[in-house]
Amino acid sequence: MQTYDVLIIGGGVVGSAVARELSRYRLKIGVLDKESDVCCATSGRNTGMLHAGFLYVPGTLKAACAVEGNAEFDRVAKELDVPFKRTGKLIVGFTEEHRQRLLNMIERGKTNGVPGMELIDRKRMDEIDPSAGGNFAIYCPSSGILDPFIYTIALAENAVKNVGIPSVYRGHRPRPNPGRAPCTAYLQGRFFRPLGGQQRRAALRGNQRHAGHSWICDSAGQG
Ligand SMILES: Cc1cc2nc3c(=O)[nH]c(=O)nc-3n(C[C@H](O)[C@H](O)[C@H](O)COP(=O)(O)OP(=O)(O)OC[C@H]3O[C@@H](n4cnc5c(N)ncnc54)[C@H](O)[C@@H]3O)c2cc1C
Repeated sequence: MQTYDVLIIGGGVVGSAVARELSRYRLKIGVLDKESDVCCATSGRNTGMLHAGFLYVPGTLKAACAVEGNAEFDRVAKELDVPFKRTGKLIVGFTEEHRQRLLNMIERGKTNGVPGMELIDRKRMDEIDPSAGGNFAIYCPSSGILDPFIYTIALAENAVKNVGIPSVYRGHRPRPNPGRAPCTAYLQGRFFRPLGGQQRRAALRGNQRHAGHSWICDSAGQG
């Protein structure tokens, strides 16, 4: 059986991005997915928006990653040769109550470090997108669109090119069952070392097997 320095469970956009990032280092990396290829779950079925980061709770890792990831996306798209358009985004409002909610969003965006958000009037909306409804809108210039399939596959292919990850383990579904699974760890969205320590005990929920991999990255999405 193959063992890895890092075994990544799940080849969605998160697992593929982790594989690409780790491919910068001298590591033996494996990606394991229960489906027949990468990007067969949520990552290939989303709206394809690059979010700006104004909806997330200030001070959270999600807010910080969204804003930082958004800012570096022109470079990433260029490196991977994936189509990407920074279209900007309008969030429209009709009533005074909407106006207050939009102003709150702008405040949150500012706190998170989202650049250039402003409340615009109908005249300005017509210049940006005459087909949009509403009396006023938030304009957020840093939002964009991309093809999530092309992006995720490009991440995975780039990782393979860098270190020659042999293949996605096809159709392999690890389960928290010590008797049957090659990899038994499960901890949502975190890296952990399945060898020793309190973290391991919590993560493995009493399961003792780690199958010789030094690190496991769980990026199995919602499962
Ligand atoms: C309707 C909708 C619209 C969205 N729109 C956007 C958007 O516009 N912009 C945006 O940024 N985000 C959007 N999102 C969110 C985004 O799609 C997800 O955050 C992202 O795809 C999560 O990626 P992931 O790699 O964590 O999970 P997934 O894409 O679900 O990947 C998980 C992988 O793990 C594999 N897996 C699962 N269980 C196991 C197992 N036991 N063993 C082995 N492999 C396993 C799966 O087969 C899959 O390949 C949207 C989500 C939804 C539902």
